[in-house]
Amino acid sequence: MAVCEIVTIGTELLLGEIQDTNSRFIARSLRDIGVDLYRLSTVGDNVQRITATLQEALMRSDIVITTGGLGPTVDDPTRQAVANVFNVKLVYKEELWQQILNRFSHYNHAPTANNKRQAFIPENSIAIPNPVGTAPAFYVELGSKTLISLPGVPREMEFLMNNFVVKYLKQRYDLCDEIILPWVIHTISKGESSIDEIIGEMETLSNPTVGLLAHPGQTDIRVTAKAHSAAEAEAMMKPVLQEIREKLKEYIYGENETTLEQVVANLLSESNTRLSIIESGTNGEIFERLKPHMPTGQLTGDNVDLVFSGETLNRLMHEYQEQKNADMVLGVVLSPKDSEPHVQIALLHNGELSEINRLYGGPAGDAITWAVNYALDMIRWKFIEK
Ligand code: ATP
Repeated sequence: MAVCEIVTIGTELLLGEIQDTNSRFIARSLRDIGVDLYRLSTVGDNVQRITATLQEALMRSDIVITTGGLGPTVDDPTRQAVANVFNVKLVYKEELWQQILNRFSHYNHAPTANNKRQAFIPENSIAIPNPVGTAPAFYVELGSKTLISLPGVPREMEFLMNNFVVKYLKQRYDLCDEIILPWVIHTISKGESSIDEIIGEMETLSNPTVGLLAHPGQTDIRVTAKAHSAAEAEAMMKPVLQEIREKLKEYIYGENETTLEQVVANLLSESNTRLSIIESGTNGEIFERLKPHMPTGQLTGDNVDLVFSGETLNRLMHEYQEQKNADMVLGVVLSPKDSEPHVQIALLHNGELSEINRLYGGPAGDAITWAVNYALDMIRWKFIEK
């Protein structure tokens, strides 16, 4: 199976001035044709470092795709680095120069002397026509290895991936339209390590693969199958998904696009439960996440400033139950300013008050999402326990 690496080139990427969206696009395109992507690297506009990165990548992988560094200025160094890797010169290609001239005349602009640099590509490379920009793309084949250099501008890179690279790779590596199909099971109320204990054996499978991805207060299980068709991939992952569902039962709140707030909002609206929320320290996020999914009049929420005190919260919750005519009242107080944030979550339903207090040990920036997920899940469990 062909293995690929992506190398994105540009000092502005390393300075955090722009985000690398090219890798994401290429990764998805490769996934859809069954190419395994093992590594992403980013390197600045420096010929020596690009050369070294490409040499290493080509030792490990069959396919290396670069983006960026193909413009007409001196700090666009990809062409020279590729020439170094294959120990060849840059050579002038008249057809590339004509392509660049056509592109400029299309926009009624005159090319500068610099633009001529773009008509030089490594001696052993093959130009990929780029009708949507002036940066010439090219590829080099050496034995079973291929290095493909694409422009950095996302629109140009995407055009060339869609119109050339995908078809070319399918043919060259006889990919027979293999696809990689992902399926995500969302779990909550069990930490990543507890889930790992329950389904750890499945994580050693090779196709489909099973992997865990921890989020604040929530863990995803990602099942990925590689096959010649979506139907075949679905059939391969079916028993695996079934086993996960059986093992984790109600710790699963949804799959793929389903969100926790959607699930909780559906439970509330289907049972006609009017919910009132009092939240402190969470920027009103519980209300904001539920609101788009709830019928008007069934949800009220106040973002208040409370200190961590069981008594105050409980008294307020009883007041809210009357004032808002609510069937259920959720009270959440997060104290994120402490070195170890703690959250108090209370739920008043049918006169019964349930309460939990938890300390949070993860990254401070994730404390709110963690507390909000916990609070939403407490509502969900009320319906499961019924
Ligand atoms: P050009 O001839 O247009 O200069 P190029 O191949 O030399 O093309 P770069 O100069 O490296 O490309 O990048 C051009 C622009 O494309 C950058 O300023 C940036 O906006 C965008 N870009 C480059 N790399 C990426 C990336 N990995 N993800 C998203 N955008 C990128």
